[in-house]
Amino acid sequence: MPRKRKLPLKACTTCKALVQDEIEVCPVCGGREFSDDWDGFVAIISLEDSSIAKLLKTPKPSMYALKVR
Ligand SMILES: [Zn+2]
Repeated sequence: MPRKRKLPLKACTTCKALVQDEIEVCPVCGGREFSDDWDGFVAIISLEDSSIAKLLKTPKPSMYALKVR
């Protein structure tokens, strides 16, 4: 049975940024490959304050999936 997604979002397979389904180019890394098969997410609001941002080495504040398959 196919797993139902909780949010109408897809994850960039390059940087794991979560974007809306209708977006074709990743706003974070410019990638064009996305996966619907992702799990968990974090919202990075400020890179300066966030130890999570450093951990993920994210270039921009955004929402990121924790796992992308
Ligand atoms: Zn990306």
